Amino acid sequence: MTNMNQYFILYSHVYITKGKYRSLIIDTKSRKYYKIPNDLYHFLTVKRNTTLNDILTEYDEDDVKIINEYYEFLLANSFGTFVANIENFPIKSYVWDSPYKITNSIIDINSINIENNLAVISQLNDVNCKFLQIRTFEKIDVSFFFSQLIKNISDTDIIYVEVLLKYDVLLDYNLLSTVIDNQDRILTVYIHSTPDHFFNSMNKNNYHNIHHVLTEVTSEKCCGSIAPSNFSITPDHIHESKMFNTCLNRKIAIDVLGNIRKCPSLAESYGNINNTLLNSVINLANFKKYDTINKNTILICKDCEFREICTDCRAYLEDPTDLLSKPLKCGYDLINGVWRNWEENILKIDAINHYGMNK
Ligand code: SF4
Ligand code: SF4
Repeated sequence: MTNMNQYFILYSHVYITKGKYRSLIIDTKSRKYYKIPNDLYHFLTVKRNTTLNDILTEYDEDDVKIINEYYEFLLANSFGTFVANIENFPIKSYVWDSPYKITNSIIDINSINIENNLAVISQLNDVNCKFLQIRTFEKIDVSFFFSQLIKNISDTDIIYVEVLLKYDVLLDYNLLSTVIDNQDRILTVYIHSTPDHFFNSMNKNNYHNIHHVLTEVTSEKCCGSIAPSNFSITPDHIHESKMFNTCLNRKIAIDVLGNIRKCPSLAESYGNINNTLLNSVINLANFKKYDTINKNTILICKDCEFREICTDCRAYLEDPTDLLSKPLKCGYDLINGVWRNWEENILKIDAINHYGMNK
């Protein structure tokens, strides 16, 4: 090493999270993460103001070899650099805020409530919502659905709309494509419950912003899965996760019956869109109570190295009687650092039965 009298700093796009058994180094530019030993976390944080030379003098020859390898790993992956004056590089601050009162929303619809539930979209504009997800678990009249969606959304500032439709062999892909291409906002359509034998041919069709998934989505109970594919490796998410809940902070939802909820799977209702304005509920203390349940307060998650890039679920819990329990649908085994099938964990059987997911 040629930087013996210098200090190692991480670049501003690189984050580290300490877990109980190991730590995580997160590169938000490449959207990649690597597990690292807690010793390395210690060097990068507690020993940040110590030169490499002073760090190494505390260790014997075998340890010095390993520590040098740690720094070679950091340099090889461009996670940071050595600097002569550490005082020029203050530790980054982790505040999070958003100009939007509500950042994301869900509207669930079925074949008979399309017009009524989509009419609430103008109210989402009143609460500055920018991201809208619309979900349906059954076949609907897609043409009518999009006519209502366009009618209601056209005068709003919503910038991203995600639609989950159930697969229907009669789906008119030209209609879908035309609707998507004529939007001045991002509109992405996911077609769930696609049968095996259609999946490959459908995904080869290259329709812009139309994606097929095999997963069968039969109700709101299908939500809440925790998996690496759902991790969000962005500075915004990492900062938000330190203070707020990564699913429910500044979220609002409308269930299929028009009930206003934090999410369609949570029991509490704050009124119905037929008699209550969204604006009148978003500042209620009871409505905001989930927002601040961050991962540092959730059992098991608080010890997990993934907690700052992970999503969360407060609707389906390992222990349904404990609001601070780990998400039911997480199969991560912290001690061994491996992912397992959560549905095969016998310790989760009671919770699975409690939520009626065994049918
Ligand atoms: S709390 Fe769970 S069920 Fe509700 S939206 Fe979030 S992940 Fe889905
Ligand atoms: S234990 Fe599971 S849900 Fe909790 S932070 Fe880790 S991966 Fe996410």
